[in-house]
Amino acid sequence: MSVIIREIQTKNILTKSDLPVGDRSLNPYVGCEHACKYCYACFMNRFTGHTEPWGTYVDVKMWKPLLHTERYAGEEIFLGSVTDPYQPCEERYRRTRAALEELAGSGAKISIATKSDLVMRDMDILKRFSDARVSWSINTLDEDLKNDMDNAVSIERRFAAMKAFHDAGIRTTCFISPIFPGLTDVERIIERARDKCNLIWLEDLNLRGAFKPVIMRYIAEKHPELLPLYRDIYDRKIRAYWQWLDGEIGAYAEREGLEYMTAVDNIERPFDAPPVIVNFFYHGEIKKSAKKRKNLA
Ligand code: SF4
Repeated sequence: MSVIIREIQTKNILTKSDLPVGDRSLNPYVGCEHACKYCYACFMNRFTGHTEPWGTYVDVKMWKPLLHTERYAGEEIFLGSVTDPYQPCEERYRRTRAALEELAGSGAKISIATKSDLVMRDMDILKRFSDARVSWSINTLDEDLKNDMDNAVSIERRFAAMKAFHDAGIRTTCFISPIFPGLTDVERIIERARDKCNLIWLEDLNLRGAFKPVIMRYIAEKHPELLPLYRDIYDRKIRAYWQWLDGEIGAYAEREGLEYMTAVDNIERPFDAPPVIVNFFYHGEIKKSAKKRKNLA
């Protein structure tokens, strides 16, 4: 599928964020070539005037270099809340790298979410931040399912990048998201990731967006045996599956001596400690309580 790429001028590249993982968000692009079928960021179409399907356009943001960046010292800046900062066009446009170069030395903390290994190109600059963290979304070990769902690099390339960063002493997260009921084998993914990451973040598949019919159709065609479960979860709002999975992961964590928590605070541990598993199910509710905690802090 061809992607329409154009440059746009923008004034504000950094925006205040109510995400539990950052004080500000920075998205060097609008749109995303990875075109994940479950991408909640497709709501951006409403705000940008794009009528093309999500995944078929990218606006490359051009901005004047950030000045007085010391004002962000101590803040956490999250790259990639509504786009992938390392999607293929970053190789040519280098806007993510430009943002990192402008922020280096500011004292800001950097957190990056990606499905790409292009981030390895920028390891040199990420080492200049005292507390950088890079997370890779991995919700299956099955490359066919991955290929059905997104246009990003293979799962194996994501693990290889995670290992390279971890070996280099940079904090990494395995973001097991979105968890597809009946398809995502959380324990097997944790087994693959646990020696390469500091944090394992779990998020349930949320089907509130325009992509709900797309995913339901996919399940009906490829996994019809799971359709009753999906109808229970996404039409009838029954939470039993997530409660069961929560119990399973809790029991696994206990067996393996791993910490498992449902809150989003106090998750930092020494670099060499085993990874902490964070349950971010029902994240709409958790986001609200995290915001409350942030406002109280
Ligand atoms: S990589 Fe992230 S932003 Fe890009 S389409 Fe997938 S979920 Fe959306």
